[in-house]
Amino acid sequence: MDRFSGDMPTPARLRLDSDALVSNWRALDQLSGSASAGAAVKADGYGLGAREITKRLMVAGCRDFYVANWQEAADIADITGDTAQISVLNGVQDSELSAALASPAKPVLNSMDQIARWKDSGRPCDVMINSGMNRLGLNPGELDGAELDHLDIDMVMSHLASADEDVEQNAEQLATFRDALKKVQARRISFANSAGIALGPDYHFDATRPGLALYGGIPRMELDEQIRQVAWPECQVLQTRQLRAGDKLGYNARYTAEVDHRVAIVAMGYADGYLRSFSGSGSFIAEGQNLQVLGRISMDLTAIDIRAVPSLREGDWVSCAYDLPKASFASGLSQYELLTNLGQRFTRNWTDAP
Ligand SMILES: *Cc1c(COP(=O)(O)O)cnc(C)c1O
Repeated sequence: MDRFSGDMPTPARLRLDSDALVSNWRALDQLSGSASAGAAVKADGYGLGAREITKRLMVAGCRDFYVANWQEAADIADITGDTAQISVLNGVQDSELSAALASPAKPVLNSMDQIARWKDSGRPCDVMINSGMNRLGLNPGELDGAELDHLDIDMVMSHLASADEDVEQNAEQLATFRDALKKVQARRISFANSAGIALGPDYHFDATRPGLALYGGIPRMELDEQIRQVAWPECQVLQTRQLRAGDKLGYNARYTAEVDHRVAIVAMGYADGYLRSFSGSGSFIAEGQNLQVLGRISMDLTAIDIRAVPSLREGDWVSCAYDLPKASFASGLSQYELLTNLGQRFTRNWTDAP
């Protein structure tokens, strides 16, 4: 749903680059070789807006969408229609069964209980195998019985724990998964998330499941050249002021001016997801200049040093430096958190919106 539906002007907006989104999906689809790339749009499309993302990726040719729960499936089901498939990664609980049976989406069955629950539905499903992450999924040993025999399994999948690192666990998981595949009959096999795609053809199978990299995240340097930033937070200057040497700024006076200089107070704070971990390390951009965050970030406000652009005035817009790898380094937050933290107060403006 478009959570932000007010008509009032807001002092902060999220510019969302449609071309970058589509170009990222195409790049990941290409990098997936003979496998086709789907799209993880869980958590409202990593905070950017699942409906708007699904619409654009449907046009681009994406045919598999991954959400966490049945509400998230319902949120996009009218867009995917009969043309694409939705997989519900958290599977299906008793409390969800009737909703699941009424939904066009398929569950990713993660446990023997879930398999028993779905067995008589006559409906398609996916099956998740635990190849070593020990999060969701059936252990390979659980596949020996006949429980899976009468399921209509579209995808059998597994999930990589450390694909963003060069560690033995990747090859170990691959070997475990390959072994387990001998025991499951499914139409398609899926293993790789964004980082897994960059691990090469052995990891691609039939379908890949990128999320982060669609939205501009770069989990491995191999993706650096092709992945473009999608989400660009921007906000207005609410006030500028001249600090005198010795003046303290913000909560708990975490910044004291050493010399006289100008600062701007801009309309973005931790309630927008711009967390305190950017204090002293984040920056904004105006006229191509980097403007450092000064002192503590407030709920709705951040102070920045505007010595490099003294012409900045109330009402001017500045961009938040939000290149995900760099912002992750600056804040200590993961690239995933940087996306999903982005608050609901931003007006979300897609570049191709009418
Ligand atoms: C979230 C998720 C993905 C997407 O992962 P990224 O690292 O964002 O590319 C793929 N598969 C599963 C099972 C997931 O939970």
